[in-house]
Amino acid sequence: PKPRKVAIIGGGVIGGGWAARFLLNGFDVAVYDPAPQAPRQIGEVLDNARRALPAIYDRALPEEGLLRFCDTLEDAVSGAEWVQESVPERLELKHSVHAAIAAAAPENAVIGSSTSGFKPSELNSRGAGAIVAHPFNPVYLLPLVELVGAAGACARAADILQEIGMYPLIVRKEIDAHIADRLLEAIWRESLWLVKDGIASTKDIDEAIRMGFGLRFAQMGLFETYRIAGGEAGMKHFLAQFGPALAWPWTKLTDVPDYDDALVDLISGQSDVQSGDLPIRQLERRRDDNLVAILRALRVN
Ligand code: NAD
Repeated sequence: PKPRKVAIIGGGVIGGGWAARFLLNGFDVAVYDPAPQAPRQIGEVLDNARRALPAIYDRALPEEGLLRFCDTLEDAVSGAEWVQESVPERLELKHSVHAAIAAAAPENAVIGSSTSGFKPSELNSRGAGAIVAHPFNPVYLLPLVELVGAAGACARAADILQEIGMYPLIVRKEIDAHIADRLLEAIWRESLWLVKDGIASTKDIDEAIRMGFGLRFAQMGLFETYRIAGGEAGMKHFLAQFGPALAWPWTKLTDVPDYDDALVDLISGQSDVQSGDLPIRQLERRRDDNLVAILRALRVN
């Protein structure tokens, strides 16, 4: 059979992760990124992916596809069944890149944007036909992709994502920052206050997550976890006990604290020493090994 081809526009952390995910699932990948360091960036992500992704399966992955770096966006997108844009998060830049993609991509290609914040209506305000396909870092291991936009394109994208071992979640209505990052934002906001007010260090907060509810969340999420707490009487019983407490002023600090130099210094001072002298490459490996173990244990794949 003819090799299947995807185009990756923007080859940073996220574009590199997409490239690795497709390559290791047998797709040919054409990359367009004008930065001279792009091949090195992608090479590093690909090294990590080759080490980690096969380890989550008992079966062999397909033979790796071919990776090609292109001098023009037009060359990269020609003949692609999926074009994934992962350029920096600036709307003007996204608009110009999507105009170029729309002009050159095959008519029935899925055109996805990795944008964490922009809605399809913002991306397409100049007439492009992209959907949001928002992944999570490292893209070569985490299954979730939030899909937002036209139903037909989202359905075609969902089929292809399942073929490459990912979990498409269709967002029913567009909203700033989609679903998962809005949840994360609530945790960030509370963490900034706790560090700023000296209640907890960055390490205390990380342990509070990973030794407790983080473990629960990885396997059942929020609602099913607490449904168990409701016992045989069910979620209504849990809500009757816990619901009123949600209205108590546990956390009155719903604004974000001032983002000033003092807060930045406080957080980076604590966070940068937290992992000792371990280089980032080694931290990535520790993260990937843990994720592989969890994915295997939960039989997500
Ligand atoms: P990044 O800065 O690591 O990579 C962006 C790449 O785009 C760079 O290599 C740059 O050279 C390239 N680029 C710039 N202009 C270009 C152009 N005109 N054509 C082609 N390539 C171009 O950024 P990133 O963290 O990979 O983020 C990319 C997108 O992914 C953003 O929209 C971001 O919101 C989204 N995203 C990021 C994360 C994350 O955790 N970093 C997670 C999910 C989604």
